[in-house]
Formats: sequence, structure tokens, C-alpha cells
Amino acid sequence: MSERKDPQRIGVLGATGSVGKSTLDVIAQHPERYQVTALAAHQDSAGMEALARAFQPQYVVMANEHAARDLRRALSDCRGIEVHSGPEALVAMAADPVIDTVVAAIVGAAGLPACLAAVEAGKRILLANKEALVMAGDLLIRAARASGATILPIDSEHNGLFQCLPVDRQGVADLTGVEQLWLTASGGPFRERDPATLSSVTVEQACAHPNWAMGQKISIDSATMMNKGLEVIEACRLFGLPAAQVSVVIHPQSLVHALVQYRDGSMLAQLGAADMRVPIAQALGWPDRLQSGVSGLDLATIGSLEFLPPDDQRFPCLGLARQALIESPGATVALNAANEVAVEAFLNRSLRFDRIAGVIDATLAMMEHKVDTALEALLEHDQRARVNAQQQLSQWSQ
Ligand code: NAD
Ligand code: MG
Repeated sequence: MSERKDPQRIGVLGATGSVGKSTLDVIAQHPERYQVTALAAHQDSAGMEALARAFQPQYVVMANEHAARDLRRALSDCRGIEVHSGPEALVAMAADPVIDTVVAAIVGAAGLPACLAAVEAGKRILLANKEALVMAGDLLIRAARASGATILPIDSEHNGLFQCLPVDRQGVADLTGVEQLWLTASGGPFRERDPATLSSVTVEQACAHPNWAMGQKISIDSATMMNKGLEVIEACRLFGLPAAQVSVVIHPQSLVHALVQYRDGSMLAQLGAADMRVPIAQALGWPDRLQSGVSGLDLATIGSLEFLPPDDQRFPCLGLARQALIESPGATVALNAANEVAVEAFLNRSLRFDRIAGVIDATLAMMEHKVDTALEALLEHDQRARVNAQQQLSQWSQ
């Protein structure tokens, strides 16, 4: 008789978002393997109500008490689902012993403290929140080695790299013989748009990604290609390689997600449909393989795949990210913070699309980036960069 294992207990940070919902979609296909124990989100109490009813977690965490109060009222007929609120409750959830696996799918710097708490508690972490690695990669990786936590990347390119590398039982990749890591980039919605017209880009145009349906912030990051810049930093931090060993190639179809180039001339690629359920299922099941709800590719119908060099002039954010990566960990904290401020201003229609890079560049130039790698010091540097970026905005806003 085969031994029946208890279901893995999952906590999803950022449950109401694009990655959060894709994760819950995969989990729902495997009720015998996974049990949703806790869910967390910002303030979408209606979205959370629907998820709580469907997955019946032990508790949920909302970012503020106002949203939590709305949710308690909405769930008053569901006994047994507790509703907590605030950043401390979020960190407590990430480290809660009743949870085995934490899905880190909050967007931006807001996700870092909970992500670190999950790592320090030795969890299995499915990591989508790339900004956490950009801000505190060394800290997170050192904490994982110390606690025994397993960090499994679900950002599609990094998940592709993870699949093309030999890894140990803790999920740590062996880079022996690796010459280069390659991340593919679709080039976003403006790959072929006349650069002279980028000043009039609307929020709707920038959010309309050709291949992926994602949250607003990462959609704008994809349109400026800051997303790929953040991903180069993410790859260096995750796999412990210098900037020169991580390259980007434009691949408009988004079917090849990443490649590993070995010393002997071999290149291993990972392919799959542009659907986050593929990397999520890989990481959720690892080392087993699960159904994700997505089929393999029909290559004969696809016919051809294109690869092109990135256009650094059109996409200055990619260069800014590389420069910050080479400069220091503090510079990448400021880069991320300035980008979050600039993207929010663009989404609020107070900053032109083609000025996002200028705000980030000017913010970085205002600052000294020598910082300690402790969480408090990194968060302080993040705050300083936000203040400086706001100051820049007043000069660059339309
Ligand atoms: P999203 O905007 O759709 O969702 C973000 C989630 O985070 C929401 O549930 C929101 O409620 C929650 N959140 C935001 N601020 C919070 C706070 N202060 N406290 C608690 N919760 C908060 O974003 P997304 O597209 O799902 O992206 C999430 C992360 O995954 C980002 O770091 C993104 O770069 C990364 N990622 C996304 C995709 C994708 O396909 N969407 C792919 C690769 C990586
Ligand atoms: Mg990605």
C-alpha cells in the first residue's frame, strides 16, 4: 500500500494579484497535495472574500485594518476564518509554523520583510517578488543557507534557468562549467514603436503587454524594460554570478524563457507557453512534476522563433539597472525605489512614460550608496531614495 502524505500547507502572500491567482488555480487542481492555510493581500476585500470562500484558509491578512473590517463583515457567515491586519501580521504569517510553503507574490518593496521572515523561518519559498531580491539578495541568500530554506524562483526566466541547471536537494544550483546565463525579453508593447512618439504613451497602451497578462506595475516595467533590468539583478543574486555573466536577448514570442550556455558550447533552453501556471506548477511540485492546466507547445504550428539584440537606446532602464548592479547593493535598492515612485507617477498620469528613466537616473545620481546589508539599513536607504525620487518628480512631472 502506498503511504498517504499529509497535504502541504500553503500561505500565499499577494493572493488577489495575478501571480497569486495563477498559484491558486494550480493548487485547486491538486486538492490531495495542497491545503491553503493562509492568504494575504493589500486592500481588495471583495477579491479576498471570494478567495477565502473558495479555499477556506485558517486565516487571512489584509494590509490595513479598514480592509480587514470590511472583510470580517463580508465573511461573518463563515465561521473559522480569522482576519488579521497590518505589516506585523503579514510577517507573522510568513513565519507561521502551521505553513510549510510560502508563495511570495506581493509586488514591490512592500513584500521584502515578509519574504525575509519566511526565509529565516526555513520555509520552502516560491519567489515571484523580484523586488525583494533586488533590494536584499545577499541577505536573503545568506539567510536561506543558514536556515535551510529552499528558494524556488517562479519568475518565468529564473524558473527556466533553475530547470536548465543541476540543483541539490535544497534547490541550490551548481554552476560548474556555466559560461553565461541568458534571459529572454519580449521587448514589450513598444519594441517597434517610433522612439520619438514614446512621450505620448498612455497608461492603457503601456499596460497592454503583447504576450502576458500581469499586474500593472510589472506591465509598466515590461514596457520600459526595467523588468528585464530587475531580472538581470535577480539572476545575479539568485545564482551568485557577476553582471557580465547574465545576458539579455529579445525574443518576441516569449516561448523560450531562458538559456544556460555551458563552456563546451552547449546551450540548454527552457520552453513553455507564456502562462505563469507553468513555472508555478514546476516550483510547487519540485522535484515532482504536476499538471498545471497548460499544454505543451505545438512547435510545428509555431513554426519559427526569433531572437534579436536589445536596443539600449530605446530602453535606457536596462542600462541603468546594469550600472546599479555593478556599482553596489545600495544602488540597486535606490534603483528599485526610484522606479516604484516613477511608475506610480506614470500610472497616476503625472509623469510622462519617456521620463521614467530620467527620474531614476537623477535620483541615483543624488545619492551616496554605501549601505549596510541589514534589513533596517536597506529599508532606510529605500525610504531616502523615495524622498529623492519625489523631489525629482516635481521637476520632471508634466
Ligand atoms: P499584482 O499587482 O497583480 O498583485 C500584487 C499583489 O500584492 C496583490 O495581491 C496585492 O493585494 C498585494 N499587495 C500589494 N501591496 C501590498 C502590501 N503593502 N501588503 C500586502 N499585500 C500587498 O502583481 P503581480 O503581477 O501578481 O506581481 C507580483 C510579483 O510577482 C511582482 O513582484 C512581479 O514582478 C512578480 N512577477 C509577476 C509576474 C506576472 O506574470 N504577473 C511574472 C513574474 C514575476
Ligand atoms: Mg519574468
